[in-house]
Amino acid sequence: MKRLRGKVALITGGNSGIGLAAAQLFAAEGAKLIITGRRQDALDEAVRQIGHDAIGIQGDVADIEHHAHVAKTVQDRFGALDVYMANAGVITIAHSAGVTADEYDAQFNVNTRGVFFGVQSITPVMRDGGSIILTSSLAATKVLQGHAVYAGTKAAITAFARSWALELRERRIRVNVLSPGPVDTSILSKLGIPEAERPAFLQTMADLIPAGRLGEPDELARAALFLASADSTFVNGIELNVDGGMLLT
Ligand code: NAP
Repeated sequence: MKRLRGKVALITGGNSGIGLAAAQLFAAEGAKLIITGRRQDALDEAVRQIGHDAIGIQGDVADIEHHAHVAKTVQDRFGALDVYMANAGVITIAHSAGVTADEYDAQFNVNTRGVFFGVQSITPVMRDGGSIILTSSLAATKVLQGHAVYAGTKAAITAFARSWALELRERRIRVNVLSPGPVDTSILSKLGIPEAERPAFLQTMADLIPAGRLGEPDELARAALFLASADSTFVNGIELNVDGGMLLT
């Protein structure tokens, strides 16, 4: 039995990395998929890879009108939504002393504001009993060098999730957080770390993980499927760490 049979799922940042892996798995498990992202070429390629009549909507999660457009498209095309995975995110690693206001806003606008207004716009078109998944980060809990702003963006959404789990209780919509450790995706090439220093940085990360390696996008996708599906009907308001044990070190 497919675990998302007959369900409609939307994943922001579904054209790459963890979001794309989750979209592929959700579609294979019977869901109709809508993905979003800014790059149209990456969206087109992701829609092709996902198959199963997935659709892509181009836009920026920091733009509130984009969320209104997404919600209307969901309603027009599918009637209602069962699973919303707020996954789009960006990261820049920098010591706080050198962070400009623009750099600060760039991360908060996508990782925090984008999640808040995405959920605000989409909940009216969600079916009662649905599932909302917010992709946070291990960095929200574990202190990592140069991650102060990024950690703040992600810690905020964990707080949102707890409030929303209660605010949406009458509608039986569950809200959970998926918290990845370092995962091998293209975000690792956008950290702001010089190319020459990246291998050493990634090795340092791997050494901190009891599993001895970075995670794979599919390992996060399987955890997201758990939170999206009826396998987790009594799981609400949690933060699910999928980090190979890195939180322990
Ligand atoms: P990724 O491959 O770079 O994917 C990021 C996704 O977010 C892309 O689809 C990107 O699409 C989208 N995105 C970024 N800014 C956007 C914006 N303003 N509007 C709409 N879409 C936007 O990285 P990933 O590793 O899969 O990251 C997914 C999530 O996991 C992020 O929230 C990230 O913070 C979190 N995370 C990742 C790791 C890791 O080590 N990989 C660890 C902890 C947490 P476009 O570029 O086309 O806009």
